[in-house]
Amino acid sequence: MVEESRESIAASLDVRPSEVIFTSGGTEADNLAIKGIFWARQSLDSNLNRVLASAIEHHAVLDPVEWLERHEGADVKWLDVDAWGRVDLAVVRQALATPGVALCSVMWANNEVGTIQDVATIAGLCADAGVPFHTDAVQAFGQIPLDLNLPGLAAVSLSGHKIGGPMGVGALIARRDLQMTPLAHGGGQEREVRSGTLDVPAIAGFAEAVRLGVIEREKHAAALETLRNSLIARVTELVPGATLSGDPTDRLPNNAHFTFAGCEGDALLMLLDAAGIHVSTGSACTSGVPEPSHVLLAMGVSEATARGSLRFSLGRTSTQSDIDRLAEVLPAVVERAGRAGVLSLARSTGS
Ligand code: PLP
Repeated sequence: MVEESRESIAASLDVRPSEVIFTSGGTEADNLAIKGIFWARQSLDSNLNRVLASAIEHHAVLDPVEWLERHEGADVKWLDVDAWGRVDLAVVRQALATPGVALCSVMWANNEVGTIQDVATIAGLCADAGVPFHTDAVQAFGQIPLDLNLPGLAAVSLSGHKIGGPMGVGALIARRDLQMTPLAHGGGQEREVRSGTLDVPAIAGFAEAVRLGVIEREKHAAALETLRNSLIARVTELVPGATLSGDPTDRLPNNAHFTFAGCEGDALLMLLDAAGIHVSTGSACTSGVPEPSHVLLAMGVSEATARGSLRFSLGRTSTQSDIDRLAEVLPAVVERAGRAGVLSLARSTGS
């Protein structure tokens, strides 16, 4: 069943079955790519210790890169992004021209603001420089068409639960000639880079979600984008001080992210929740952490503004009446959260 699943995933993604390495999810796929490639390159040549990664990566990439910096002597260059969250290609070119680059990692699409990166160009630049390129496509897969055969693309992370599959399963799609040092040693499963008995039911579910994800995406993409555009238009029109974050056009079709001047994201989230509307402040995976989003800060948003941000995610079951309901509720919610923000500021400053 595992091998059938591997073949089915490979056929859906137009890759070879041997390029599918099953993992416990996106986090493990990212860690395997970042640490595994770094260690393999180091064992080839100890001068290869430079790691390039975008400043807006998910923590599943950000943290292993920081870990390599702290514990393994990696020399990390965080790739800057512009105000829309797009990685600056001139910075990538410059960074790749420096000696000793072990790997480069730039996510396909951002999980908070939805900006889609020019992965084809970045992978091509890495190919020209002879540097393995990894991309975290956890949010992009199932939302936009992905060409996993782009020249220069060495490894791609995917996760089951982002495409309606089971939690706790994912894959790293890794070119066969990509060298990686395992994170876990043992029985030698998965090309000897990911030892351990595989979770067969989860893998079978993941394969079916991948198969449906590819078919369903094509069917639903246009409708989802229309709905998302309606959401953006209504919120911008009805709520003074609402600013769309991320690239206005090159963004995930299911994502709309705003900052609301003078409001706390948590207050907005709670008031919307009480009205039956479920949203997220920044990344759902790290919500509960009171820090302003590192993604928004990297895009040049001030700390105060970053604290008043909300991410709206749409799904295949979302409808125009959901958008209408949001439009009905949001203006009053923002006004109330704004008043609460002013009151708490007055209390904290004693004025
Ligand atoms: N990468 C991105 C961009 C994500 O949004 C997430 C969130 O779940 C992950 C990685 C982590 O994936 P997983 O939850 O499967 O470990």
